[in-house]
Amino acid sequence: MRIAVAELAQETDSFSPVLAGLADFETYGLFYGEDVAQRMQGAGPIGGFFDVVAERSDDVELVPLLRGWASAGGPIGDETFSQLRDELLDRLRAAGPLDAVFLSLHGAASSVSEDDVEGAVLEEVRRVVGNDVPIAVPLDHHASVTRRMVQNADLLVGHETQPHDPPATGRKTARLMFQMLAGDINPVMAWQRIPLITPQDQFLTSGGPMKEWFDLARELEKRSGVLDVSPYPMQPWLDVAEGGWAVVVHTDGDAELAREVAVEISARAWELREEFWKSGRVSVTEAVRSAVAADDGLVILSDTGDSVYGGAPGDNTTLLRELLRQQVPCLSLIPVVDAAAVAAAFDAGVPSTITLNIGGRLDSVFSSPVEVTGRVASLSENVTTDIPGRGVCNLGRTALIECGAVRIVLLDHRSFGVNHPLLYAHLGIDVAAAKLVVVKTASNFQFFSQWRKEMIRVDTPGTTQSNLSEFEWKRLPRPIFPFDEMPSWSPDPEVVV
Ligand SMILES: [Zn+2]
Repeated sequence: MRIAVAELAQETDSFSPVLAGLADFETYGLFYGEDVAQRMQGAGPIGGFFDVVAERSDDVELVPLLRGWASAGGPIGDETFSQLRDELLDRLRAAGPLDAVFLSLHGAASSVSEDDVEGAVLEEVRRVVGNDVPIAVPLDHHASVTRRMVQNADLLVGHETQPHDPPATGRKTARLMFQMLAGDINPVMAWQRIPLITPQDQFLTSGGPMKEWFDLARELEKRSGVLDVSPYPMQPWLDVAEGGWAVVVHTDGDAELAREVAVEISARAWELREEFWKSGRVSVTEAVRSAVAADDGLVILSDTGDSVYGGAPGDNTTLLRELLRQQVPCLSLIPVVDAAAVAAAFDAGVPSTITLNIGGRLDSVFSSPVEVTGRVASLSENVTTDIPGRGVCNLGRTALIECGAVRIVLLDHRSFGVNHPLLYAHLGIDVAAAKLVVVKTASNFQFFSQWRKEMIRVDTPGTTQSNLSEFEWKRLPRPIFPFDEMPSWSPDPEVVV
């Protein structure tokens, strides 16, 4: 059995002014051919696929094509998208006869000129391999699931949890693909778009309405004949023509069952729509004040508007400004992405005292630079590490600026490490001694869980802000809840055979 394996994934923040280029893919490891198999063991959905292949006793010949993953950021530059798509397709054409394609995608990627990157890629991949070769696709559940995607894939399987477990999604997809190849199942897909968009505040699947919705998906998967139920609560800063939430249901050859289950799961999301809009966000001033006043232990301040994992630039200064304004007395950690400030710190050297402008350069709509006088305490260059399940992470150049009790870590690019304790530890900071840490994510707090006392969602502005009505939406289909009056809505899923 010959199976091509590839990944081309990015999560697009339509409101970020910073386009994603080739360097963003290279940061997270842009691999070709055999390197994909070498470097992706255990990492990402592809790593999950390799796990399943390793469990099998039959002969599976892997044909690794390419792996490009750029985390989240602004729209992909047209040239970068064309280059990666063409490299993928050239390698696919050169692969020879195949029994299946395992293609890991995100689902919420768009380029400057293409709203639906995944649909465009899948359409081309289908054209190359023809209708008889199954295409199995693990997706991020924050995807926007489009018509071209469902029409050109045999399996579209979303994450079961937020925070995500990408290898688990890869394993689930791979198992269904092998069952399909053995002739044990004949997947039929039902697809339903839901006219709904919500902020990220209720995105965790560990509680609240999202848990209820995802639990229902797991319940429905226990029904005889149901293969997979994937809810897709689209990430809320994707301004594309087919945007909004969706569900995809796979059954074993039973179109009516697929429709029925898709109706049930999408109707539940609609019932819960008001719940998904509930939020415990607090103002910037109040957040810093209560973090300082908290008992011992680490308080995580979630900078919701500047979520790097959601695609924001990472240089919003709203929280930094407030930490300095309140002259916080306790050890406080905050990351800022600012290549120019890193360069200034390197020029000054260790130890030195400098005055410099920090942040507000990339996102000048929601933020502005803040002038800081501080001590350059530590610098690092070319530190690369592997984050379990996620893969390689290059920190690039970083600089630690001490300003009173505030420790600002400057990064020269948007590394996955921005929300990881290794960012501080590698510069000599004892995270256990810190009172508060600012994270540029609204969901992925898990890396600090061993010290976590409390988490506060801060109502900060930015390109991933929860105040969705403040964005200037241009492409999102209307009507959509809650921007428009929608007293009623009923699901009517499409079946794709
Ligand atoms: Zn996601």
